[in-house]
Amino acid sequence: MAPPQEHQSESDSSWDAIVVGAGFAGLFMLHRLRGLGMRAVVFEAGGGVGGTWYWNRYPGARCDVESVQYSYQFSAELQQEWDWSEKYATQAEILRYAEHVADRFDLRRDIRFHTRVSAASFDETARLWRIETEDGQRASAPFCVMATGCLSTTNHPRLEGFDDFRGRVLHTGTWPHEPVSFRGSRVGIIGTGSSAIQSIPVIAEEADHLYVFQRTPNYSVPARNAPLDVVERADIKASYPVLRETAARMFSGIVFRYNPDSALAVSDDDRRQEYERRWAHGGVSFMGAFADLLFDRRANETAAAFVRSKISEIVHDPVVADALSPTDIIGCKRLCVDTDYYATFNRPNVTLVDIRGTAIERITPDGVIAKGSEYAVDTLVLATGFDAMTGALNRIDIRGRDGRRLKDKWRDGPRAFLGLSCAGFPNLFTITGPGSPSVLTNMLPSIEQHVEWITACIAHLRNRGLGCIEATDDAEDAWVQHVADVAGGNLRSQCSSWYVGANVPGKPRVFSPYIGGFPQYVRQCEDVVAAGYRGFALS
Ligand code: NAP
Repeated sequence: MAPPQEHQSESDSSWDAIVVGAGFAGLFMLHRLRGLGMRAVVFEAGGGVGGTWYWNRYPGARCDVESVQYSYQFSAELQQEWDWSEKYATQAEILRYAEHVADRFDLRRDIRFHTRVSAASFDETARLWRIETEDGQRASAPFCVMATGCLSTTNHPRLEGFDDFRGRVLHTGTWPHEPVSFRGSRVGIIGTGSSAIQSIPVIAEEADHLYVFQRTPNYSVPARNAPLDVVERADIKASYPVLRETAARMFSGIVFRYNPDSALAVSDDDRRQEYERRWAHGGVSFMGAFADLLFDRRANETAAAFVRSKISEIVHDPVVADALSPTDIIGCKRLCVDTDYYATFNRPNVTLVDIRGTAIERITPDGVIAKGSEYAVDTLVLATGFDAMTGALNRIDIRGRDGRRLKDKWRDGPRAFLGLSCAGFPNLFTITGPGSPSVLTNMLPSIEQHVEWITACIAHLRNRGLGCIEATDDAEDAWVQHVADVAGGNLRSQCSSWYVGANVPGKPRVFSPYIGGFPQYVRQCEDVVAAGYRGFALS
């Protein structure tokens, strides 16, 4: 591997490659580009590395993929030297890990922090991507890699009267860096997705009173988080190669026990026992209880009914338990993983405001009006999610050949080949872009696979004296159709989730991620390369 190049001065604006974003994708991309001997720069809107884990500092934030799996595998040394303290690491620990990676691989010197990219356009004559930042910087490079994340542009619902609210407003996805106290405070939280479900039990411990405004109840399973002791950590380190290899063969890229049986082929007792075992074990492996949970509505209902039975066991007030119980497809919206979420509603200082079938009527200077009543609050927490998959890319004015805007191309939904590249946008790569498995898999291996693919692609071009790669219209059309076909056979495409853009008013309803599974996707990426970058025009 070639040593990193000399650091460029601030005034230099011409690079071999530009990367947007210094989360896990951007960090590894920079490392690999340097490995090719390229001069690369990363522009990052935040003041530090870590992406999602830099911004989402809300109370209780953790990753619900086990830490030993939600980590890089490209460096055996890194794996061996880093100790995870818990089964599911906190946001703070994951951020420390990202910072450690940045320091260990000396990445920071080529990252421009507090620098948000506002525009990127392809100069066809010079065959360069020209980048502009919000603070007026300009830079250019033959290659541009968007490492902007799938869940990085927050969704702010337009609520009448919002600007008149006199209290404090916080969004889980852009949480303040300084400590936030809820002591003595009446808090209202809007939303009951993963972010809310993690933060509600923690906020409830401190707040005077917490009002939870729930538009749609969500299924959640217990995390069963626990510290990792010395012996467990040693075992993990000894078994990393096997763990990673096994994960690469799993549909989700995560190692857990999948049961190949149908939920409808076993007795009621056996089925219940399987769910009980998974409930006791904790985590997203609950959905691996039976093979057809995401393909057969009747099978799915058995798992849904089990979780509802648990909610009514945990929550003392039957009216509240009923309001917390979803009736739709389990796993259609992303399954939540919690610590004491349902039990929190037994606390006297927590009120569930069930606005199912209605909406928040308006925000007043002092609180929230819903279902005809005003709830006085000092703090409003928006746990209202993200403009997922396309939000961060559409926020940048990206223009390809003939000045065509990516946003216009994607007006009816995202179009990309393999989620990596778009026709009309030469030498522009997206890491975990729409049409790739990304959010339906373990993000870290998915990121690494994309970074390795892009690195090999750029090396291929350079080795052959080629300057340009661009997805063809035909390949892109076929891939977009394939992504839609695979989604059509899965129950996950049927509900109004952020996977289909339903959480953002006006967004076209398209199932954005590729749901064919990680191994199947990787095989297709490899086939494309083996066939001489089939589906791409190289020049
Ligand atoms: P989310 O799943 O999109 O949840 C947003 C919540 O806000 C939903 O309950 C939604 O209700 C509600 N909402 C939005 N607009 C509203 C409005 N105008 N009025 C009332 N309610 C409104 O967002 P999230 O919880 O931030 O999670 C997003 C994704 O991030 C997750 O699915 C997951 O992939 C990832 N994440 C992962 C972790 C983890 O690893 N543990 C933690 C947090 C997030 P509706 O359902 O009715 O739309």
